[in-house]
Amino acid sequence: MSSLGTESAFEVVNKVKALEAQGKHIVHLHIGAPDFRTPEHIVEAGRKALADGYHGYTPAKGLLPVREAVAAYVERFHKSKTDPDQVMIVPGGKPTMFYAILLFGEPGAEIIYPNPGFPIYESAIRFTGATAGPLPLSESKGFSFDPDEALSKITRNTRLFILNTPANPTGGVVRKPELDKLVRGLEQHPQVAILSDEIYSRLLYDGEEHVSLLSYESIRDRVILLDGWSKTYAMTGWRMGFGVWPKSLIVHAERLQINSNSCTNAAAQMAGMAALTGPQDCVERMRTAFDRRRQLIVRELNQIPGFRCTTPKGAFYAFPNTSGTGLRSKELEALLLQNGVSCLSGTSFGANGEGFLRFSYANSEENILEGMRRVKACLQPA
Ligand code: PLP
Repeated sequence: MSSLGTESAFEVVNKVKALEAQGKHIVHLHIGAPDFRTPEHIVEAGRKALADGYHGYTPAKGLLPVREAVAAYVERFHKSKTDPDQVMIVPGGKPTMFYAILLFGEPGAEIIYPNPGFPIYESAIRFTGATAGPLPLSESKGFSFDPDEALSKITRNTRLFILNTPANPTGGVVRKPELDKLVRGLEQHPQVAILSDEIYSRLLYDGEEHVSLLSYESIRDRVILLDGWSKTYAMTGWRMGFGVWPKSLIVHAERLQINSNSCTNAAAQMAGMAALTGPQDCVERMRTAFDRRRQLIVRELNQIPGFRCTTPKGAFYAFPNTSGTGLRSKELEALLLQNGVSCLSGTSFGANGEGFLRFSYANSEENILEGMRRVKACLQPA
């Protein structure tokens, strides 16, 4: 158990709660959750499902109409024709990640993952006894990566390659030319499966377009797609996610689901179906609000002494380089919290996050401005 890590966002949540209990006011810029309510037609579908008696177990992979809705959604937004039998509904984005890593991780195996990246990749890889191979994402490349460097990390022991675009914590986006090159290289390594975490695929800015790894036919039989409702439909607490699995793997993933969750909450599945099949303008409204906040926070961050922030192209995070302050990321995280702003140290996302902080801009423009005012005041005392 000592090799299992954590997601420090949950620890910061506790620290914030403790400070608030003492009467301190904190501007929340640490949370990776939309601050919007789930759109009403989705909530209503959940209510109706409860009233209609969706109270029992469902098949482990999920209700068939929900999986059919996911298949149609994947065809529309990930440009890939999908068999509902290869879809598994899970409680949130995380189970697809955990199952994929459990499937391939074992002592002697190597798994390549983005660093800085979502902390659970590294944690779960180490838990299985596999070797965690960090793929550095650099600020100078807008937090995309170099496909040649990524491919050079693959050895004969590599079992799984994890990609996340748009990315947490950097907001970086991997574009089609890089993906094309990566896929051409992966074609030479048929023993490597790919986990493509595309949970932020509907949150893109500046005209960026999402390209899914699932849309590449040559590797389709070894891509596991991770997506879900949490970020797109402001549904983090409903615990709704889905995976699209290769035919050869879905049986194993289903067995992991039976051994852990049995199935996903039945009424939540019905709400999830309403989200996918209903109007999508709610997604666009939230995206437009995030876009305004993104521009605001980047402008403000770039005015803070010692900070330098590239413009993120996706998700809802800004990841400024803070090395100019002379403080280590953890020290800065603690200092800002004392001064009423919660954010996350870049090292919460792996060793390569040293010298950075993650600010979530899933908060109102007013709160973002107040947060930035506090950061400035604390780093540039009058
Ligand atoms: N993948 C990435 C990149 C994330 O940032 C998150 C959540 O922050 C997840 C997966 C997990 O999402 P969920 O809350 O639906 O489990």
